[in-house]
Amino acid sequence: MTGRAIYRFSDMDGLHYDNVSGGIGRKTSHDALFGYVMCDAAISGEVAHSCRHGPGPHRIKVCVPKVCNKEDWKAIEKAMKAKTGSTFSADRKPSGASSRSG
Ligand SMILES: [Zn+2]
Repeated sequence: MTGRAIYRFSDMDGLHYDNVSGGIGRKTSHDALFGYVMCDAAISGEVAHSCRHGPGPHRIKVCVPKVCNKEDWKAIEKAMKAKTGSTFSADRKPSGASSRSG
């Protein structure tokens, strides 16, 4: 299983919606919220990644699943709105073709 960690929202940056999880490259079933955190900044738990690619801490891409953030989701969406100036809808069509190599 992948690791689960708890981060402060304020410790995240680069929030965006995507459908490919970082690190393990697993495709999510639908767009999910992602952000970047420092791998040693977790309040608890740890994110599944290796620290082998050089001395830490590392900036890693993490998924922010809505089911794990129900209580904070309103605040998260608000912050996203402030950042992107648009609302997120689950029915949002992905912009551009998603042909990625690698
Ligand atoms: Zn690390």
